[in-house]
Amino acid sequence: MPALELTAAGLKPLSACSSEPFIGRVQERLDDAPAVREREILLVRNPGEPLPPGFRGYLLLSEGVVSPGLEDVYVLPPSLHYLAAGDVVRIHPERGALATLYRRASASNTFLVTERCDNNCLMCSQPPRKQDDSWLVDELMEALPLISPETREIGITGGEPSLLKGRLVELLERMKHQLPRTSVHILTNGRGFANAELARAVAQVRHPDLMLGIPLYSDLPEEHDYVVQALGAYDETLRGILHLKRARVKVELRCVVHAQTYSRLPQLAEFITRNLLFVDHVALMGLELMGFARANLGLLWVDPLDYQSQLTAAVRTLSRAGLDTSIYNHPLCILPTELHPFARKSISDWKNLYAEDCERCARKEDCGGFFASGLAKRSRGIQPFRE
Ligand code: SF4
Repeated sequence: MPALELTAAGLKPLSACSSEPFIGRVQERLDDAPAVREREILLVRNPGEPLPPGFRGYLLLSEGVVSPGLEDVYVLPPSLHYLAAGDVVRIHPERGALATLYRRASASNTFLVTERCDNNCLMCSQPPRKQDDSWLVDELMEALPLISPETREIGITGGEPSLLKGRLVELLERMKHQLPRTSVHILTNGRGFANAELARAVAQVRHPDLMLGIPLYSDLPEEHDYVVQALGAYDETLRGILHLKRARVKVELRCVVHAQTYSRLPQLAEFITRNLLFVDHVALMGLELMGFARANLGLLWVDPLDYQSQLTAAVRTLSRAGLDTSIYNHPLCILPTELHPFARKSISDWKNLYAEDCERCARKEDCGGFFASGLAKRSRGIQPFRE
């Protein structure tokens, strides 16, 4: 999963600029800005008055008066006019670019902590890279004090976060300290927790609201290993799940449903109810057409309408066994009515779209719609509900 860093170029400098990128929190009202403003960036919607000194930077919606001595004053391009108080951004003066790291109003704030990964999944939406990117965690640590403590949930994703080992534990400790009321959801392939010590170290943080989302694609080792393109991954992932649960860390199982996974969904559900009944949640997910999923479309695409019998059988098995079960990333109109109570509006707000037909659908409010990347390849089952 990508982080949900949205980068836009086109900042126009109106003053001298810093030589290095810097992170700051957007403020709109002088009254709300803390007394120490070295990490605050003032957003000025109607520049007219001279800008007050003391802020780390200034973002203007249009050109305004800049007093001598102020630095890092930029005019925002229209694509960045969505910024608002409480957002956390990184400004790249030399590139004239701004990356939005955190949006105060969004329910879907996720941070990418590494692009390295030991799997190479057929449908990976964030294809792995090998370089040292430890700066990503440094940056998140720097951003944490700027994030609102009222944030409901933060996602941690990669790459594979467990490759960070001790730094992941350190990050969780910081998150617990800085954001004690914020849920943390980590997307991991689970293999790193085959090392029981790492699983115990995560548990020892005693984060009050932590869940690890771990993909399991088949009841058969060879099928799971094929989907993740890593021999032995199934075995390590299962051992990771067992170690985490033994240490009392919450685990959610995730299965992306596509042409290589749908036919054994009923058997996977049986396997989970017989062997992993202690997990905390199971999510059966539609395919996001990003990254490798696009390149491997021929291998992966199946119209969701064509796997509804397998999906229904799996959901029945899981829910009858008492497992908390959800269906993510599926438009409501392609699911049988029996599955509607399991469907969640799961697509992050910034990449969630609806088709033109959806405008006349009576259940649009209840429906999760589509990934922005998925509108090009739609199910033949899309059919607006009438009243
Ligand atoms: S028509 Fe659109 S809004 Fe209605 S259920 Fe289908 S995908 Fe959802």
